[in-house]
Amino acid sequence: MNAVVLLGPPGAGKGTVAEVLVDKGYKHVSTGDLLREQIRLETPLGLEAKELMDRGRFVPDSVVVGMIRGLLESSDFSAKYLFDGFPRTLVQAEKLDELIASLNGTLEHVALLECPFDAIVERLIGRRTCGKCGSVYHVTFNPPSNGELCDVEGCALTQRPDDTEETVRERLAVYEKQTAPLISYYEAKNLVRPINANQPISAVRADVLKSLA
Ligand SMILES: [Zn+2]
Repeated sequence: MNAVVLLGPPGAGKGTVAEVLVDKGYKHVSTGDLLREQIRLETPLGLEAKELMDRGRFVPDSVVVGMIRGLLESSDFSAKYLFDGFPRTLVQAEKLDELIASLNGTLEHVALLECPFDAIVERLIGRRTCGKCGSVYHVTFNPPSNGELCDVEGCALTQRPDDTEETVRERLAVYEKQTAPLISYYEAKNLVRPINANQPISAVRADVLKSLA
């Protein structure tokens, strides 16, 4: 079993990186999806998580790690995984290392998306979406041809309520605080491969492919 961990700030384009890796045969593991599935199947972990979430509590590391353990133990030897949104804490990173070692697997590397926070803010606060058809625009980088209206049906475009500068900066601050210790942890193991996310998508894709070589 081989694994890659994907780290990067919100809005840096993790989806693009995930697409490239999925094309290369990695299974995309999102803890949010796993959690929803456990809850749907009413497994013991799912019921525990649901009970906590219903009371407005965070799902503890033990539950998240338990789900990942279940997934990895049930997978075949040649499987390749891309972890997205996990590990989020140092404890989770250590647990993941133990888990991978116990299955004789390898953590190949950590893909770290790097993008100046100002560039992310500019990207996110300029984003406009059409509520009707889902088209996404950017006031500077991809403006609609028709002023403030959607090109498809001419309906009004809206800004997502969490795409304000204040909210975006708050999210970035949380990311930095939470993730900085993880980056040091993986740097000490010489596993970090930086990817420049502040460039056109085609260039990001090329960098991701290079990082796999
Ligand atoms: Zn539209």
